[in-house]
Amino acid sequence: MFNVEKIRQDFPILQRQVNGKPLVYLDNAATSQTPQQVIDVIVDYYSNFNANIHRGVHTLSQEATDKYEAARQTIQKHFNAKHAHEIIMTAGTTHGINLVANGFSSLLKKEDEIIVSALEHHSNIVPWQMLCEKTGATLKVIPMNTAGELIMNDYDRLLTKNTKLVFVNHISNALGTINPIEAIIKKAHQVGAAVLIDGAQACPHIKADMQALNVDFYVASAHKMCGPTGIGFLYGKEAWLHKLPPYQGGGEMIADVTFEKTTYADLPHKFEAGTPNICGGIAFGAAVDYMNNIGFAAIEKYEHELLEYATAELQKIQSLKIYGTAKNKTSVISFNLEGIHPYDIGTLLDKMGIAVRTGHHCAQPIMNFYDIPGTVRASFAFYNTKAEVDALITAVKKAQMMLS
Ligand SMILES: *Cc1c(COP(=O)(O)O)cnc(C)c1O
Repeated sequence: MFNVEKIRQDFPILQRQVNGKPLVYLDNAATSQTPQQVIDVIVDYYSNFNANIHRGVHTLSQEATDKYEAARQTIQKHFNAKHAHEIIMTAGTTHGINLVANGFSSLLKKEDEIIVSALEHHSNIVPWQMLCEKTGATLKVIPMNTAGELIMNDYDRLLTKNTKLVFVNHISNALGTINPIEAIIKKAHQVGAAVLIDGAQACPHIKADMQALNVDFYVASAHKMCGPTGIGFLYGKEAWLHKLPPYQGGGEMIADVTFEKTTYADLPHKFEAGTPNICGGIAFGAAVDYMNNIGFAAIEKYEHELLEYATAELQKIQSLKIYGTAKNKTSVISFNLEGIHPYDIGTLLDKMGIAVRTGHHCAQPIMNFYDIPGTVRASFAFYNTKAEVDALITAVKKAQMMLS
């Protein structure tokens, strides 16, 4: 049974106050909070297992290695990758995208084309622009409609025999739109293009299945799904990971080094140069376990209820406009109050203990599309409550009165 009050007790930070008010944390799309179960794993690691991995003969090193590799398998099982070595540990989503973009810089030719979507995070735009500059390839953009949905007919028209790569996020962090990635992947494969899905915003809400999606690359960050910052993963199909050159050179990623020639280590180590974030990787595994213990079906159902309730209540506020009204969306609500800058609302909400994000949410092209400087974004996790939605509504009304 899903019991939100019991779940909230797992998160020490939810007990604290901000500006004398109980914290209402609605900035989950930027980063999620960390349950005690994951904090305990971090403390346990530095108290009992801290050692470098993959090379020590001593007990601590072997124990740390076992735990780190067990975490890789937890991630593999959760995302249903065929092999554990298809899971590359990264510093996060941005790192994973750059790793793939860098790899493709030696595979692309001038006439090649890359497709991204109008809904992308800057981390899924800038690396491709850099790749196009390096290779001479062309960047094309799938446009969106005013509801914040990708226009799939236009996607069909953009795909050509020159399309080599398609990059789309699974869920938009700015608007909450769930993109039709199954169709996007299928159509890209029909013209022989590879697909990278940015799953950073999806991983706390949806259990993505690598084999069912038949996706080529998928990236996410632990800190959006109850894990620590500075760790994430890149899933790549085995054949693609063999094709891509290594990203960084250094220790851990080599098989044999002489000054004449270096041979690279097998997957996944070929892409994991240097001492990794060992503790972070182990804690990432614990976060995946924690979320699975609650259950993604229950999480999805509960968050959807929160989304519907919050949307209905916000819509009752005069001169409030919600951006992103896709049929298929997750618990992210971007909005503005007529005539008031989002930053001013965010500042007043903080005074009332409510944490929301304001600004362009690393997705300036979306803001340009709506011709606004930014939005106020409230994003809900499975540990938020209807009472917190009510607190948000009361605070927004108060802010509106004070600012108009
Ligand atoms: C958070 C986020 C990113 C960036 O993740 P980092 O952890 O900062 O690398 C990229 N894309 C989307 C959709 C996100 O929500």
